[in-house]
Amino acid sequence: MIPVYSAADPVEVEILRSYLASHGIDAVVLGSQLWGARGELQADAYPRLVLRDAADEPRARALLREYERRRHAHAAWHCVCGEQSPVTFEICWACGAERPSP
Ligand SMILES: [Zn+2]
Repeated sequence: MIPVYSAADPVEVEILRSYLASHGIDAVVLGSQLWGARGELQADAYPRLVLRDAADEPRARALLREYERRRHAHAAWHCVCGEQSPVTFEICWACGAERPSP
């Protein structure tokens, strides 16, 4: 059992499990059942994604890196004025300029 990811919450870890499964990688979620007790158990209670087969590890890590990269790329866009706006904004919150096309 190879741990590859500690997620911020049980929903995210489930999304990632399906993401790996769609690429033919068999992973299981550990720790989600402790979610309700995370106040007492701290870091150990965070859900973890664990691979059944160590041979999948390099591909799983590459996929997870890609997932993180995309998540950050979509989290915000940069305006010419130097500020960042959330992806849900079509115009800059600071100066009102239109969002540049990607
Ligand atoms: Zn701006």
